[in-house]
Amino acid sequence: YYHPFNPTPLKYKPLIVVGPSGVGKGTLIKEIINKYGGLFESKISYTTRAKKSFEKSEGSYHFITKEDFMRRVERNEFVEWCNVHGNLYGTTFAELDRIKQKGKIPIIEVDVQGAIKINERAIEGNFLFIYPPAFEELRKRLGTRTETEEEFKLRIQNAIKEIEMANNSVLFTNRLVNDELEQAIDQFYTLVEALYFQELKN
Ligand code: 5GP
Repeated sequence: YYHPFNPTPLKYKPLIVVGPSGVGKGTLIKEIINKYGGLFESKISYTTRAKKSFEKSEGSYHFITKEDFMRRVERNEFVEWCNVHGNLYGTTFAELDRIKQKGKIPIIEVDVQGAIKINERAIEGNFLFIYPPAFEELRKRLGTRTETEEEFKLRIQNAIKEIEMANNSVLFTNRLVNDELEQAIDQFYTLVEALYFQELKN
């Protein structure tokens, strides 16, 4: 992996996608990858949280122990790492490098704190925040993907915090509301084309 203080510049700015749990980030990112699959790739993070029953093991995470995670922290492997909903999550330099080696643009899905840390590392990126349409809708969506009442409450509280933090941050120069999915997908396409296509044609 490349050293944090001497990073190999990425040819294209990564797309950093943030939004509360249940807002539909995953669905929207999948659409972008389906449409522009040759160009973008989602980073795979490390996490100490337990794998959910509906998750595939080769999905969006490497599931590791806390000891393994902290060893990687000490070795400076992470671009950023955070405690999210009580578990540790981190993005490695090696992972961004892997995507870069393929000539692709990394899509980095993180929480707000993670996005702020990426920015502090002086990694240039296009920062996007995705809002839920209304609170009731977020409640409904979260209800279907949390396994305990406690986890549900924690995620609702964190959603409120994340939206407040995003509203107070100048980092997110790109924002969209995921209300009607089809519309949000179209807005996401338009955004991606505006951010990258002029550059890619050159
Ligand atoms: P989940 O447990 O639902 O998969 O993810 C919970 C939250 O962790 C989401 O908001 C997601 O964006 C965030 N997350 C996933 N990977 C990372 C990471 O590598 N770093 C940080 N800071 N947050 C992450």
